[in-house]
Amino acid sequence: MTDLFARLGLTVADLKGGTLAVHSPIDGVELARVRETAADEMPTVIARAEKAFKAWREVPAPRRGELVRLLGEELRAAKDDLGALVTLEAGKITSEGLGEVQEMIDICDFAVGLSRQLYGLTIASERPGHRMMETWHPAGPVAIISAFNFPVAVWSWNAALALVCGDPVIWKPSEKAPLTAMASMNIFARAIARFGDAPEGLAQLVIGGPEVGDALVSAPQVPIVSATGSTRMGRIVGPKVAARFGRAILELGGNNAMIVAPSADLDMAVRAIVFSAVGTAGQRCTSLRRLIAHNSIREDLVARLTKAYASLPIGDPRAATTLIGPLIDHGARDRMLAMLEQARGEGGTVHGGRAVAKGAPQGGAYVEPAIVEMPGQTAAVCAETFAPILYVLGYDTLDEAIALQNDVPQGLSSCIFTLNLREAETFLSAAGSDCGIANVNIGPSGAEIGGAFGGEKETGGGRESGSDAWRGYMRRQTNTINYSANLPLAQGVKFDI
Ligand code: NAD
Repeated sequence: MTDLFARLGLTVADLKGGTLAVHSPIDGVELARVRETAADEMPTVIARAEKAFKAWREVPAPRRGELVRLLGEELRAAKDDLGALVTLEAGKITSEGLGEVQEMIDICDFAVGLSRQLYGLTIASERPGHRMMETWHPAGPVAIISAFNFPVAVWSWNAALALVCGDPVIWKPSEKAPLTAMASMNIFARAIARFGDAPEGLAQLVIGGPEVGDALVSAPQVPIVSATGSTRMGRIVGPKVAARFGRAILELGGNNAMIVAPSADLDMAVRAIVFSAVGTAGQRCTSLRRLIAHNSIREDLVARLTKAYASLPIGDPRAATTLIGPLIDHGARDRMLAMLEQARGEGGTVHGGRAVAKGAPQGGAYVEPAIVEMPGQTAAVCAETFAPILYVLGYDTLDEAIALQNDVPQGLSSCIFTLNLREAETFLSAAGSDCGIANVNIGPSGAEIGGAFGGEKETGGGRESGSDAWRGYMRRQTNTINYSANLPLAQGVKFDI
């Protein structure tokens, strides 16, 4: 462990003497006590970002892309180590820890290409001798507040885009995962050193809980706040940013569903269900939480799933065979067990869902994933419980299934398993899924970085990552240029003096 920390540039001084205790979810062992950013340091941090912005916005975008290219190279070199630290600090199984770092590399590659493509439109002017166009300019410092479950990827989704768009970033990681953030900043420092002339304060890190995040949320000098976490957090952050006319990119809770139609390839569906419901121990914003199965296949599907669940290896996420690691902490396990009790009270039949005592490391919060057959979409089903609980509901008509799928407060990810073209297209149509992500014959989790990522309703409406999400990090300017010798007014208005 000491060697791993050292390779990632984490010094003894970084790890000792602070006030924030960091525990590994694997066994509850204290990994470090890191220093928190004091409230009176925040104005300096913000001022540094403002200064960096003035310099960075003048750097040509493709040159800004070069820094992100170097970051991608450094991440490639550090992939195994950073992935191992994700496993240690967030409890993800090894391949998911590595996958998270791969996502960082992928978004860097995407952003490098983007740095030569920050396109605006040319627009037809109604006036002779005039030209109109749209220009995209850097917007200013971007605050990135991230959740524990994607402790580093979420920073990179935002930072890689913000940096090529000309914006400095200030990162407030989850208080449950500061070490991976500190290590990522060290990796970024290696890229900065190779780049040569980046302004000081281009990417900063502040450590602490909601109060540290709030200093960014409330700062008018930070025009963009990208906040990833619970809907509870978004309800506080969104209005505060709006009150000062800032821009919030909110990536909040999900309650993702899969519809399994009678024609579905059930072998494929079972594999997709198991990965998306129990992967990351059900702690992805896109985890599958609701299975809406046609009544003609529901019993068969539940039988296949309970059989598959029974053989899932639960335990130390560092072991090559483990598929389900620990929950982030004992509080998360308590909330899962309490929600299963509630579901029972609401008429649910629970399969699995017990705390795991044997075979897993002591001190961690290990659970069997649960399948819960429900009589309807009750209060328990409508809530996001950040744990591996899969509720099963039945349906008879596709309209009924789509109505169930949409009838929850969240709107992140969704999917249908069907071989029927009409059903698939209906699900994707305006009258279909109301989510930001809707898939056919693919589970709801494990998105690629090329698409815009985010969701509707209580998921917050933000979009990050691919497609044209970069526009969220820039300000749009409409330009009209008159190259004629006259001054005609729009809409034919006459104003002769
Ligand atoms: P959380 O809301 O407890 O914390 C997330 C971050 O917000 C942390 O850094 C925290 O310190 C900060 N925060 C909390 N209250 C704040 C406040 N009032 N002001 C400023 N900052 C504040 O979430 P969590 O438990 O770390 O993560 C799990 C949640 O995140 C789940 O609901 C999950 O669905 C969601 N999530 C969403 C996405 C997405 O892209 N939609 C991705 C990952 C996680």
